[in-house]
Amino acid sequence: MQHVIIGNGPAGVVAADTLREADPAASIILLGDEPEPPYGRMALPYLLAGNIDEAGTHLRRDPEHYDRQGIELRTARVTALDPDRAQLALDDGASLDYDHLLIATGSRPNRPSIPGIDDPRVQTCWTLADARAIAALTERDAEVVLLGAGFIGCIVLQALAERGVRLTVVETAERMVARMLDANAGGLLQAWCERHGVSVRTGTSVTAIETGGETLGVTLDDGSVLPAQLLILAAGVSPNIDFLAGSGIETGRGILVDQCLRSSKPGIYAAGDVAEGRDFSTGHRMVHAIQPVAADQGRCAALNMAVHPTPYPGGLAMNVLDTLGLVSCSFGAWDGVDGGDSAELLDRDRFRYLNLRFAEDRLVGATGLGLTQHVGALRGLIQSRHRLGPWQARLQRDPTRVMEALVGCSVQL
Ligand SMILES: Cc1cc2nc3c(=O)[nH]c(=O)nc-3n(C[C@H](O)[C@H](O)[C@H](O)COP(=O)(O)OP(=O)(O)OC[C@H]3O[C@@H](n4cnc5c(N)ncnc54)[C@H](O)[C@@H]3O)c2cc1C
Repeated sequence: MQHVIIGNGPAGVVAADTLREADPAASIILLGDEPEPPYGRMALPYLLAGNIDEAGTHLRRDPEHYDRQGIELRTARVTALDPDRAQLALDDGASLDYDHLLIATGSRPNRPSIPGIDDPRVQTCWTLADARAIAALTERDAEVVLLGAGFIGCIVLQALAERGVRLTVVETAERMVARMLDANAGGLLQAWCERHGVSVRTGTSVTAIETGGETLGVTLDDGSVLPAQLLILAAGVSPNIDFLAGSGIETGRGILVDQCLRSSKPGIYAAGDVAEGRDFSTGHRMVHAIQPVAADQGRCAALNMAVHPTPYPGGLAMNVLDTLGLVSCSFGAWDGVDGGDSAELLDRDRFRYLNLRFAEDRLVGATGLGLTQHVGALRGLIQSRHRLGPWQARLQRDPTRVMEALVGCSVQL
């Protein structure tokens, strides 16, 4: 049996290890197109902030791990897939046959079409090579513009702040992290950043980048121009599915997978940022684009490839950010469900906010800010799908009692 995995990020590496455990005799080939040992993108901000070295980004610390596990690492880009012949075409001209295939090619950062965007002082923060380039361009007090204040943008913001640069964030949406935080939380986060010396321009777009001078001139839609030694793009991501053209594999935003992470073609699975799989809260398909879901899907896809049908319960949308010391989070259906109740605590002066969302008497989503002690309990209550019973009214009076509610509901079982 030959298992081939395209993509050596968290989804691919967890899948390879799970396959080895489940199928000791199989051949396992793990393909990646970057000239690096398998590493985790979510470690890049810690590298930039100087908290870890490059080896600290590697997904398996022991360089002999893959050899010992009998997992063949190969550096090559897959350019095409022929499901009828069960064969991949590689960019070095070779072809590769498979019995089972896992596509775990992740996503790539969007590059908006802005004049000047190809200047080397305009970078994404997506690969180890990007992190090296950013480190080289960001001496202390360098002027840096960050385009995009979404989830990844805010993580990069934190790393840049730790490097001691002077930072302006430009965000097209009317608030920061609009896909994760509601207006109250997004507004508080912006006020917090400004209080800590980061300039935040929401509802604003970059229209051009002047590249002729010693510094870049980042032109905004109100006509103002920001000087910058570096412009970092964090303008969303797109799943890596281009090489599937002509393969007949069904795609939406990502590769459409069923509850066992199977694609529309037999023997071909998908996991991680490239997969559009079941969402825990809605039951609908979505691309989750977070590492815990990538790792869970990688594990589950591998079990399906090697052993027997193993359904995936659905990925929980879950984001936690630490921005200049202020922790914000959102879980599940954080913006509510039709006809559902909610409970809110807002303390603007102390930068504290909690919003709970209910469907009948279950907690289905939450947004929090400045209340770190509740993060685990919020996730636990949502994932356990406990009926809250009398706890719903108590939470509506005081949303901070989530830990008590979790314990109370668990004891009732
Ligand atoms: C700066 C940053 C910070 C982040 N922080 C967090 C965080 O705090 N929490 C969190 O949950 N998530 C975070 N993420 C997101 C997280 O990194 C991703 O969700 C996760 O990496 C997805 O894993 P994956 O294996 O699906 O894809 P990836 O990690 O993207 O791996 C895919 C691999 O496939 C390779 N590949 C692509 N196409 C081909 C091809 N045609 N042939 C061969 N190989 C190919 C790619 O080069 C890559 O090595 C962060 C991301 C970034 C960039």
